[in-house]
Amino acid sequence: MDCRNYIGSYYHRNLEDQIRMVKERINIVVLGAGESGTGSAVLAIRNGYSVFVSDAGTIKEKYRKILLENNIEWEEGKHSEEKIINADEVVKSPGISDETGIIKLVKGEGIPVISEIEFAGRFTNAKMICITGSNGKTTTTNMIWYMMKKAGLKVEMAGNVGNSFALQVALKDADYFVLELSSFQLDGMYDFKADVAVLLNITPDHLDRYGYDMQKYINSKFRIVRHQTKKDFLIYCNDDPVIRNEIKKIKPEATLLPFSIEKKIGQSAFIRNNNLNIHYKNQEITMSIYDLALKGKHNLYNSMAAGIAGQVLHIRKEKIRESLSDFQGVEHRLEPVLKVHGINFINDSKATNVNSTWYALESMSGNVILILGGTDKGNDYSPLIDLVSEKVKALICLGKDNSKLIKTFEKTVSSITETRSMEDAVRIAYYLGKKGDTVLLSPACASFDLFENYEDRGRQFKEAVRNL
Ligand code: ADP
Repeated sequence: MDCRNYIGSYYHRNLEDQIRMVKERINIVVLGAGESGTGSAVLAIRNGYSVFVSDAGTIKEKYRKILLENNIEWEEGKHSEEKIINADEVVKSPGISDETGIIKLVKGEGIPVISEIEFAGRFTNAKMICITGSNGKTTTTNMIWYMMKKAGLKVEMAGNVGNSFALQVALKDADYFVLELSSFQLDGMYDFKADVAVLLNITPDHLDRYGYDMQKYINSKFRIVRHQTKKDFLIYCNDDPVIRNEIKKIKPEATLLPFSIEKKIGQSAFIRNNNLNIHYKNQEITMSIYDLALKGKHNLYNSMAAGIAGQVLHIRKEKIRESLSDFQGVEHRLEPVLKVHGINFINDSKATNVNSTWYALESMSGNVILILGGTDKGNDYSPLIDLVSEKVKALICLGKDNSKLIKTFEKTVSSITETRSMEDAVRIAYYLGKKGDTVLLSPACASFDLFENYEDRGRQFKEAVRNL
């Protein structure tokens, strides 16, 4: 039998096929030994597959230990092509672009390349609540998970947050998974189906990975509706023109549950007289928007999405209301840090694209000193000009190359400073600040030029503020 064809048409919930695959010692190659790759390798070996893990970089000690403990064969610092092309299936980490030589080679050989989520989805019958969008995924994923936990459901959270989905499938027994899905993960998903899909927004992001073609990025996000039927749900933001148009175009099969701040009629969640209304079938929840735990228009959208998800999962009204009003928020997302001499410092390091910075600025009152910049992913900063002109009194650029930022804002802000370290950025911001001002770190860029990742950037910001 040709294993490759067999895998290509393989359906993830067919146990018989799965057992057959194990007996035939299917070769799984995992590319990338980070959180998702290591998790996939553990899940594969525990299910009797033959596994080889290859990472072109250096594998972190934590993951190396897991590979050794589980007797998984691995290599680092290279990709041994002769071994890799022996794979029946390749599980690719989301960080590896399709344009890398090894992926081109593997695909050229006709070997299926899938994501960790696709792979792990085959080994569980739990219901999948999947959240995607350009912004708000982590916040909404946490909110829904928190609500489900509160309701006493056997639920785990995975995807881009915490331990990998694959590792949790290997180690835990859950009735539900709440999964945060990035476009890169969605790209490697074929047979996987979301029982409840949440699509928060689609604004330009990661365009460097999509040939600067917005439609390709939209298509990637819409993979979340694959295989959905009338029995499944698509919760989506109806104020987002990109989503609205695409839904008109592709007419998803799922039961559609839109939410909106601008419209009321036909919406599963909407605003009337400063009350949030959430409808599903005959159930209706009403609560004041002032009782929502997370502030800002973007979080209103996230709360709407989470509230509708709660309803389709039959969580009791009181639990939904309670969860939306006492959810604590997530680190690095508009996180209040400290007030120093009346100057308020806010850490929004997770704002790695222009749209999230737009919402951060939109939610600010008073004068703002904005720390902006980092790795440019093909950004167009012009949507920020109006809000910057209205609210920002000083701009501090924190990136290796700040020329694009300076060019965009030099006519809008009179005070622009360039810095290369967080310590300097915070010190200058403090120097420029007056009582009542807000210093906002909301970079609109990725962090990899000067920091390890956005968490590192956020932590360095908080530390620098505490050291003032
Ligand atoms: P993601 O996981 O999609 O990156 P996060 O919840 O981590 O989303 O938030 C990322 C950034 O986007 C933060 O700066 C946050 O304040 C902002 N944000 C959160 N929700 C939204 C939303 N619905 N629309 C726009 N920006 C948002």
